[in-house]
Amino acid sequence: MLTPERLSLNTATVSKQWNLRQCVEGCQRHGFGGIAPWRDKLQEAGVDEGARMIRDAGLTVTGLCRGGWYTAEGSLTPAVLDDNKRAVDEAVAIGAACLVMVVGGLPPGSRDLAAARGLVAEGLARTLDYARAQAMPIAIEPLHPMYAADRACVNSLSQALDLCDQLGAGIGVAVDVYHVWWDPDLAGQIARAGSDRLLAFHICDWLVPTRDLLTDRGMMGDGVIDLPAIRAMLEAGGFNGLNEVEIFSAENWWKRDADEVLAEIVARGRTSC
Ligand code: ZN
Repeated sequence: MLTPERLSLNTATVSKQWNLRQCVEGCQRHGFGGIAPWRDKLQEAGVDEGARMIRDAGLTVTGLCRGGWYTAEGSLTPAVLDDNKRAVDEAVAIGAACLVMVVGGLPPGSRDLAAARGLVAEGLARTLDYARAQAMPIAIEPLHPMYAADRACVNSLSQALDLCDQLGAGIGVAVDVYHVWWDPDLAGQIARAGSDRLLAFHICDWLVPTRDLLTDRGMMGDGVIDLPAIRAMLEAGGFNGLNEVEIFSAENWWKRDADEVLAEIVARGRTSC
């Protein structure tokens, strides 16, 4: 059971309906404790103005989505590295708890997954140097293996934590139930992460059947993920951040009135989380 002040709104959940200001005001209306903007919404509002409106609303920023995409150009070009520096700057500007990283999949035309993963490790190391100097934690978000080709070639918590071990302080993980719920070693890897590396917790549900690989996430309680059990694992591991609701839903929640969506999230927080 989660009361609304323990919820954070990831702006992707109402990305088709609201801009950043509307998201901030919606969070206030429905009593959310936090927000996690995507960079497009933040940039559209203006980073300074966005930071001001979030601060004035008294919302905790559970993360900025997202940096990464190290493999997009097949090598660590200045454009890729500079964009990640800008993402760190934006995360600092809004006082985010972490910068969430979706690391990128296979470079166009490549079949060399090992090389892609090497590139990601090097890219993360480069961004981490910059982020550490500004005390901005970096959160690797492992994505479900179905996205290994086109979005992220870090696909399990174990793999993400191996990278953290290799890279040292200032880096941890964003645990998104949609990506990790199936993992037989989920409890073990969450315990392994520990409070220093559990940086964000994203919630939604896995629908059966899932009709689209990207945009058919479910509202909490509508699918098969044991959310209270996974939340208990994080809390046992020392995580005490907010529960960030991130639902991509082209055929359902993105089509509804956004206030209705937030009201439903609050209701499901009480019954299904
Ligand atoms: Zn997520």
